[in-house]
Amino acid sequence: MTAGPARLAQPLDRLVGAKTAAALGRLGLRTAGDLLRHYPRRYSEPGRMTDLRLLRVGEHVTVMAQVKQATVRPMRSRGGAVLEAVVTDGTHDLSLTFFAKHPNRLRHHEAKLRPGRVGLFTGDVGRYRGTPQLVHPDYTIIGVDADDEEAALVEASRPIPLYPASAAIPSWRIQAAVRTVLDPLRPEDVPDPLPEEVRERRGLVDLHTALRLVHAPYTDDDHRRARRRLVYEEAFVLQAALARRRAEAAEARAVARPGAPDGLLAAFDARLPFALTPGQREVGEQVAADLARPRPMQRLLQGEVGSGKTVVALRAMLQVVDSGGQAALLAPTEVLAAQHLRTLRDLLGPLAEEGMLGAAERATRVVLLTGSQTAAQRREALLDVASGRAGIVVGTHALLGEQVQFADLGLVVVDEQHRFGVEQRDELRHRAGPTPHLLVMTATPIPRTVAMTVFGDLEVSTLTDLPGGRAGVTTHVVPADNAAWVARAWQRVREEVDAGRRAYVVCPRISADDADADAGADDADLLAEDEGLLFGAAAPRRPLRAVLEVAEELARTPALAGVGIGVLHGRLPAAEKDAAMAAFARGETPVLVATTVIEVGVDVPEATVMVVLDADRFGLSQLHQLRGRVGRGTQPGLCLLVSSAPEGTDAATRVATLAETTDGFRIAAVDLELRREGDVLGASQSGRSSLRLLRVVRDADVIAEAREDAAGVVAGDPSLAGHPALAAAIDEFLDPQREEFLERA
Ligand code: ADP
Ligand code: MG
Repeated sequence: MTAGPARLAQPLDRLVGAKTAAALGRLGLRTAGDLLRHYPRRYSEPGRMTDLRLLRVGEHVTVMAQVKQATVRPMRSRGGAVLEAVVTDGTHDLSLTFFAKHPNRLRHHEAKLRPGRVGLFTGDVGRYRGTPQLVHPDYTIIGVDADDEEAALVEASRPIPLYPASAAIPSWRIQAAVRTVLDPLRPEDVPDPLPEEVRERRGLVDLHTALRLVHAPYTDDDHRRARRRLVYEEAFVLQAALARRRAEAAEARAVARPGAPDGLLAAFDARLPFALTPGQREVGEQVAADLARPRPMQRLLQGEVGSGKTVVALRAMLQVVDSGGQAALLAPTEVLAAQHLRTLRDLLGPLAEEGMLGAAERATRVVLLTGSQTAAQRREALLDVASGRAGIVVGTHALLGEQVQFADLGLVVVDEQHRFGVEQRDELRHRAGPTPHLLVMTATPIPRTVAMTVFGDLEVSTLTDLPGGRAGVTTHVVPADNAAWVARAWQRVREEVDAGRRAYVVCPRISADDADADAGADDADLLAEDEGLLFGAAAPRRPLRAVLEVAEELARTPALAGVGIGVLHGRLPAAEKDAAMAAFARGETPVLVATTVIEVGVDVPEATVMVVLDADRFGLSQLHQLRGRVGRGTQPGLCLLVSSAPEGTDAATRVATLAETTDGFRIAAVDLELRREGDVLGASQSGRSSLRLLRVVRDADVIAEAREDAAGVVAGDPSLAGHPALAAAIDEFLDPQREEFLERA
């Protein structure tokens, strides 16, 4: 038999049988190691019965209940036999029914289902003569496999691990498989990524002990100790990975770009129609100093929607151009890239007209490079980029991946970081030649611990002040089933349009027959329903509102008679998207029905109203981003969130939070609390992600401790040659397939 670390790599079918292995495979578990890292979701106290009143017909459930009676009797009408058992939570009953050709085939159930025994029962809830019923439920009786009475007593008093299960495999079969794998393991089979000195300092058990205590505890204290250690381990491995990145980044070389005294930047500052805010000035100085050093800048700039990040970025780009280099500005979508191009050209005026009549003396070129350009446009842009004639290149992230040749790329600015994770940052560093400086911008405030976790290798600047003259946004929740309120919402849109302003109408889908929108409503709430011992199937949902359908409806709405209505969504060709945005900006179509493609960065100062349909289906920070599109001018903004979330649900809390505050930091904190860990750090659906237990908000202290310990270990042993288990854990953690979580967060 295999020994040592190789044991954890053994495929499950050799250990637990093909059938069980196949069911576990559907949970994403393939090896012994995967299974051992599939921790119980929680533990049930033996004797704590499920409230059977809560069962609803049609649900797939797992309940704990006590057997009241079980009797086998022949069936007169059909032949054959039936076993009828009744289980109870002490007050309410549930009946269990098993059919067979012959009574003898039912005797083994009868023997197990003895009155007084407690078991877990799983199946689809039906109803028979007014009582809830499970037909042929899968079940396990607690504590009967023990050898003797005394052992049975001990067994029956242990906390019962409840695993994230599925209809294909109930929790106790997972438990049995875990025990098959776990019981024969010796400590040397499970190398521990946590160095002993760290364990001792923090009072943590070793990995072998932790796995036994988490899967097979005798007391609640057992699994709590195990969990504490396992949470710490996740934080530690992550922080060690980040510490290594920081060390690696510190080695990277960049070209210093100190700027020039009478260059473009000075000319730009002179023609800027407004004064920089104190925040813009301060952050600008930090960035200018970073760029002047021969080490790559790695900076995250966060600032509320409308705080004026673009100007900060443009000033940095000009400093680089003044130093003979080029700058790339990356936007998350082509619509936004096109908008950035317009904004930069407007701000620069003659400074961006190199080679044209009337250009300033020291001008440069700002070019756009996107996948949807014509071949000729693209060729010309590529030429400008390669020759260095274009000082500033605007595009999407594809710009870095493709075969785009820069004459001398000195700075990369990434607007809205969502898709620019650690992986991309590494790629940037691994490009041929000196590493470009990097400025990542985000309007989604990042709580400190998330910054330490996901952006642990970046320095953070924050713009706290908004440029003056902004009127702000008022937000109201509109119940979707209240026709009068909904009608009033369209009336308000009309009033704004009549006053010369614009309105966005946001929908989660493009057309009625789509499953999802392009940018997608958040599905956090779809995932959030199977907590607890009762694993209920989600109730069927009403179809979501769709752009094309809503646009047609609005065209027939009397309140909007004669108002131009445009549509914008991700499936339109780029040129049509641009045209739709432009018509909206000019006021030809003052109502724009759109998906979340307008989520980030779009800037139409005349837009004052936003109506979000199915608002309860969007994520909090997504709604916050969307809302940032209105109230950007001097007129106050109005945001109407049309929601059908029942009171008390997470979805209702999200919508209510948004109505109550515009403080981005508060919204981000509520968002993190409401999301499950999987959504925060993007744990894969398959359950194989490396972060299972760590929660960035709750475990802030653990993360800070682990950061300190990990920095120490990596400083003392940068190659981790003396810590092979840790090195292996980091590699596994940074497996490209798992990298996704860093990009998504
Ligand atoms: P965001 O941080 O959301 O990207 P933008 O950079 O788009 O914000 O800025 C929003 C608007 O504020 C733009 O129209 C921009 O020209 C304007 N703006 C930026 N800085 C200032 C300032 N210091 N004073 C007045 N207006 C400013
Ligand atoms: Mg912006």
